[in-house]
Amino acid sequence: MLYWDHAATTPPYKEVVETMAEIMNQHYGNPSALHQAGEDAAKLLKRAREVCAGTLGVQSSEIVFTSGATEGNNIAIKGVAMHYRSRGQHIITTKTEHPSVYECCRQLESLGWEITYIPVDEYGVVDPLQVASVIRKDTVLVSIMHVNNETGAVQPLNEIGKLVKEKNSRTLFHVDGVQGFGKLSVSLKDWKVDLYTLSAHKFKGPKGAGILYVQQGIKLFPLLAGGSQENGQRPGTENVASAVAVAKAMRLAQERQDTFYDKIGKLRSLLLNEIRSIPDFVLNSSEKGAPHIVHFSYPGLKPEVLVHTLEELGMLVSTKSACSSRNSEPSRVLQAMGKDKEIAASGIRISMGWEHTDDDMNRLVIALRQSADKLRPLSAKRG
Ligand code: PMP
Repeated sequence: MLYWDHAATTPPYKEVVETMAEIMNQHYGNPSALHQAGEDAAKLLKRAREVCAGTLGVQSSEIVFTSGATEGNNIAIKGVAMHYRSRGQHIITTKTEHPSVYECCRQLESLGWEITYIPVDEYGVVDPLQVASVIRKDTVLVSIMHVNNETGAVQPLNEIGKLVKEKNSRTLFHVDGVQGFGKLSVSLKDWKVDLYTLSAHKFKGPKGAGILYVQQGIKLFPLLAGGSQENGQRPGTENVASAVAVAKAMRLAQERQDTFYDKIGKLRSLLLNEIRSIPDFVLNSSEKGAPHIVHFSYPGLKPEVLVHTLEELGMLVSTKSACSSRNSEPSRVLQAMGKDKEIAASGIRISMGWEHTDDDMNRLVIALRQSADKLRPLSAKRG
């Protein structure tokens, strides 16, 4: 079987798994404890925080370890909304955010916040000027993702960050960086980002682990009440093994980013061309997207049929994103890009990882062609 679902999750690095096992076996102390075992764990946690901070070019006091990006996005958005409530209750986001941002905004909306959902163009990209045009005095937060998890569309964060701060220097800028880190370069300072979310399992780290960067001086209303761990932002006994593994995976991902971009970018270009040449498929990803994600539709066919046909041929791909693959609604992201319901309901995502070779791509392309031929008679449009 060839695994083509790296945007859903990645197989962890061997070193990451070994490190976790070693720490769980040998350094199991509670970092808050005053004895030797506690101090030992606290040191490991401190070092892990420094490595994560170093990777992003920020201070280690600005890193909060989380259980992943769903939690990170919720802590960031609700934490800002609630803490800065008296300053204003207006938030800006886009129509194509991951559910952990989108639904979070919807919840706040139901509680009285005003949310502006910025549209995207046919390639899934927002216009920075449009973001700037809706910033007001009471806008407390702008939350925009780096790379879209369904289509791989990349947002112009540099321009957006600059315009946000020009329009209202007190408006905070949050970026869901999950699908961009390790694939594209990240510059929190240049983008003027105040809060940044990552999830380790998207770059070969452990599942249920991530970080949230919170710029010095920003206050968040803590969603969980409890102890003072993680600067009080995220109480609960720290998962030291996971924090060390996140740090290791972050460092490896960053070191290998350029090679990833070159190697996987080439495979992606090849795949884009092949998909364009198969008449049944409609390509939804643009040339300018992130190097690891290709999204297309087979209009007239339920996407799960193509997923299962490809699986029989040894290729594991997904419909939409993992978080919404079990709901059969047309994709909100594709509809926001102006795609009709048929296209939006028949999307397939292929996402690549480090391990893939030219030979793997050749095998995938053959399987795609065979599947298209086999399923043509079933496709409602043609059949
Ligand atoms: N944001 C984006 C863009 C994602 O792709 C994902 C994972 N599908 C998340 C947030 C949520 O991450 P996690 O699985 O760590 O909760």
